[in-house]
Amino acid sequence: MRWKLICRDAADGSGDLILELPDDLLQAAGWKVGDILELEGVQANGGAIQLTKTVLCDVCGTSTTETGHGVLQAQWRDGECEGLRLCKACFSYAMATLRREHEVRHLFDEGEQ
Ligand SMILES: [Zn+2]
Repeated sequence: MRWKLICRDAADGSGDLILELPDDLLQAAGWKVGDILELEGVQANGGAIQLTKTVLCDVCGTSTTETGHGVLQAQWRDGECEGLRLCKACFSYAMATLRREHEVRHLFDEGEQ
């Protein structure tokens, strides 16, 4: 999806620009006030930019922009939803912990593995 927006000079002598993001864009992108956005791909010709929401790991707070993020999520039948967005290191830790728990619980099972 593309939007054509106008950058305004901050008019404070800093040279900064202000880019107002309309509500329909926020809704379509799933962004909300307080989200951290990263500016990418500034092109000299045409001035096209790409904004990407920065996801911070819910455990350690690391930005997952470089690697992407993993999701541990539940949607229970009673309507309750819960989840964690995790950086690669925290996701790997969670997976290793769960796999180790599985191995311990099935240590004496016959015919498995
Ligand atoms: Zn983490």
